[in-house]
Amino acid sequence: MSDFFLNIVEDEPQALSPEKVWKVAVIDDEESVHQATKLALANTHIMGRKLEFLNAYSAKDGLALLSAHSDIAVVLLDVVMETPEAGLGLAKAIRHDLRNFHTQIILRTGQPGYAPEESVITDYEVNDYKTKSELTRTKLFSAVYTAVRAYQNLTSLAAGREGLRKIIDSASTLFQERSIAKFSEGALEQINALFNINSDGIFCVSSAPKNPSPELAQYLTQHKHVDLSEVDNDFRVIATSTGYRDLFGVPLQQIPKKEVRQLINRALTTKSHVIEDHHIALYLDTPSTWQACIYLHSQQDITDKVDHEILKVFASNIALGLENTKFLTQLADTAYKDDVTSCYNRNGLMERAIPEVIDSNDHAVLYLLDIDYFHEITEALGFEYGNRVLNSFADKLKDAFPSDAMIARMHSDVFAVIVPGHGQPPIKRLIEHCSNQPLILENGDALRLGVTIGLSIHQEGTQADTTPESLIRHAEVALNKSKEQRRGSATTYDESLDAGSLERLNLLSELRRALSSNELELYVQPQVDISQQCKVVGMEVLLRWHHPILGNISPGVFVPLAERSGLAYELDLYVLRHSCSLVRQHPDLPPVSINLSAMSLDRGELLDDFASIMERFHITTKQISLEVTEGCLIKGNSALTNLQRLSDAGWDIHLDDFGSGYSSLNYLLRLPISTVKIDRLFILELKKTQHAATLLTGIIGIILNIGKRVVVEGIETQDQNDFVANAGAEVVQGFLHYRPVPFLSFVDEYKSH
Ligand code: C2E
Ligand code: CA
Ligand code: CA
Repeated sequence: MSDFFLNIVEDEPQALSPEKVWKVAVIDDEESVHQATKLALANTHIMGRKLEFLNAYSAKDGLALLSAHSDIAVVLLDVVMETPEAGLGLAKAIRHDLRNFHTQIILRTGQPGYAPEESVITDYEVNDYKTKSELTRTKLFSAVYTAVRAYQNLTSLAAGREGLRKIIDSASTLFQERSIAKFSEGALEQINALFNINSDGIFCVSSAPKNPSPELAQYLTQHKHVDLSEVDNDFRVIATSTGYRDLFGVPLQQIPKKEVRQLINRALTTKSHVIEDHHIALYLDTPSTWQACIYLHSQQDITDKVDHEILKVFASNIALGLENTKFLTQLADTAYKDDVTSCYNRNGLMERAIPEVIDSNDHAVLYLLDIDYFHEITEALGFEYGNRVLNSFADKLKDAFPSDAMIARMHSDVFAVIVPGHGQPPIKRLIEHCSNQPLILENGDALRLGVTIGLSIHQEGTQADTTPESLIRHAEVALNKSKEQRRGSATTYDESLDAGSLERLNLLSELRRALSSNELELYVQPQVDISQQCKVVGMEVLLRWHHPILGNISPGVFVPLAERSGLAYELDLYVLRHSCSLVRQHPDLPPVSINLSAMSLDRGELLDDFASIMERFHITTKQISLEVTEGCLIKGNSALTNLQRLSDAGWDIHLDDFGSGYSSLNYLLRLPISTVKIDRLFILELKKTQHAATLLTGIIGIILNIGKRVVVEGIETQDQNDFVANAGAEVVQGFLHYRPVPFLSFVDEYKSH
C-alpha cells in the first residue's frame, strides 16, 4: 500500500490533459494586478494541466467565487481591498465558513516591508505571503507551482483516505461472504459504491490457478475434472450485476458481446487494467496465480470519476479475497452447482453430467421432471418453504434412481436426471414414488407432490448426433407434450413431437419466465353506464405482455398458448393476485372483473387458492367479479360444480362472449350468473342484416327480463351506442368510450375526476 502514496506524490512529467485545469483565483481590487498575473502565468502548465483564471475585485465577490467553486487550487489574495484587512477576513471565511482546507491561499500586499504577524498566517491558515513587488514572473510561477502541488497532494490524500476507508470497510464485509458468487457480486457492488458510479459488470474467474500446490492440483484434476493445461483459456462468468444476468455461468469466449470479450481478453493477456471512457477491465491475479477479471460498463463517462490509484488498491484487495482458501475449492463448482439443492444446475448438466454419461455409455436416458403446482406452494407458504420442498424432492429423486444417475435442477421447479445404461426405473413406479408417497420435510410436514415427465433417449448408433443440447431440448419438447395432455403423465420424445411444437416451446418458456418476472401488465377497460352520462360502473382486467425482444404479444396469442400447455391456471392466479394488490391499493375504484380460462374452472383447488389470495390481500368478493365463457362450462360437470361453489362463496359471475359460440338461452336460466356480456360479433353483424338487429334487441330484452344485467361489448361508434341504448342496454364496453389502458393510468384519470 505504500506504493499507493508514492504514486500520488510522484513527479513524473505527464502528458498534457486538454480538459483538466488548475483553477487559480485572483482576488484584488486593482485591475492591473489581474492583467499582470495573467500575463506572467500565460501558457504555464503544471503537472500536465493548464491554469484557468477566475477573477474577483473585492473580498465580498471573492467569497462568492469561492463558494461557487470548491475546486479552486490557489487563491492569490490582496490584503487591502474594501477595508484595510478585507483579504484577511476572506482568508478566515474560506477556512471557517466555507470549511475549505485544500485551497492554497497566497496573500499579496502592495506595501513593501509590511509583513503580517506570524499569528495571522497561522490563524488564517494562509499558505504563503508575498509582497506584490516580489512577484516577478519566476517567483510568481514558483509560488503558484508549489501551491498547486500542495493542493493536489491534499486533495488526493483526502480522496485516498476516504477511498481506503471504503476499501477496508468493503473488504471486511466481502470477506465474510461464504460463497464465491456472493463475494464477486459484492465486489461489483462495492466498485459502484466506492466511486459513486452506476455501472453494470461481470466477474470472470479462471477455472483453476496456473500454479496450484500439488495437493490442490490433484484435487482439481481428480475431483473437479479441471484440465490444468487449459487454465489460461478457461474463464467463466461467476457473478454479474442485473444488466448482464444472462451471462451468468457463460464461458468467457462465449460472451456474445464482442467488445466485452475483447476488453477482458486484453486485460488478461496484458495482465493489466484496461480503462476506457465507458469500460473498465480490471485484471486480478492472486499469489497462487488464480486469475480473474472484473469488467464494468457504464453509460456515463467514468474515467473522471474513477481514481486509478484507488482502483489498483481495490483490485489487489479483491485479489487477496479471491485467494482466501475457503473459496478456492468452491470456485470450480459454482458455475455448475445449483445454490438451493447443491445438485448440478443447467450448466452443470449440460457441460459436466451429460457429457460424462454419454461419452462412456451407448445408452442413456434423460428425464425432465416438473413438479406440479410448485408455484402455488411457494405462493402459499413462502420461498423458504419452497426451497425445503426442492431439497426434499432432490433427495427423493436420489432414492428413485440408480446411484450412478446424476441429478440437476434446471430452473425453478424442473429437475433433470441423466441415467446411464439400461437400468431405468419403470415410469409408472417413478410417478407413484413422487406422487403417492408424501414428501416429509425436515420440519415434519408431509406434502404430496405430483410430477409431469418428459424423456429423451441417447442411443449410440441410432441418433449419431446426440449432444447435451439436443437431449435437453428433446426432453423439453416431450415434457411439454405431457403437460398439454395432463399433469402426472410422461412422454418420451420422438421426432413427430417436434413438428410445430418448437416455436411454441420457446414462446412457452418465455411465457413461464414472464410470469415469474412480472413482465405481464394489467390493463383495464372501463365499462360505462350510458343512462348515467357514461359513468364508469365497472372495469375488465385485460393482460398485456410486453416482451423485451418480441415486443407486445397479444392475449389472443398467449392466452390460448397458456391454455394448451397447462399454464392458464397460473396465468389466472397471476391476474387475481395482481388485481387484488392493485385493488387493495386503490379501494375506491369501480368493481373489477377478471377473466377465467376454461382450464381453471376445472381445477379442484380453485376455490381454496382464490380464497387464500383474497384473504391475503383483504379483498372481498364484492370487489372482484369473474368472467367465464360458455366454453368453460361445456367441458363438464366439474366446471359447473365449481361455478356453483364460487357463486355460493359470494363471487359475482359474468357470462362472457355470449352469442359467440354455443349460446343457449337454457344456460341463462340455469347458471348462477348475475351479468351477461354480449359478444362483439353481434355488434359487427348489426350493419349487415336487419335480422341481426332484431335478434340483438330480443336477446337484450330476454336477459333483462330474467333479471340479469347486460353489458354490450365492442361498441365502437355512436350509432352502435344509440342502437343498444334503444334496445334497453345500459352498460357498454368498447373503444367508443375507452380503450384498454394500463391499470394505473386509469386510476390516475379516475381520481382526477
Ligand atoms: P374478452 O374477454 O372478450 O376481452 C375483450 C376483448 O375485446 C379485449 O381484447 C378488448 O381489448 C377487446 N375490445 C374491447 N372493446 C373493443 C372494441 O370496441 N372493438 C374491438 N375491436 N375490440 C374491443 P384483448 O385484450 O386483446 O383480449 C382478448 C381476449 O384475451 C379476451 O377477450 C380474453 O378472452 C383473453 N384475455 C385477455 N386478458 C386475459 C386475462 O387476464 N386472463 C384470461 N384468462 N384471458 C384474458
Ligand atoms: Ca372478458
Ligand atoms: Ca368478451
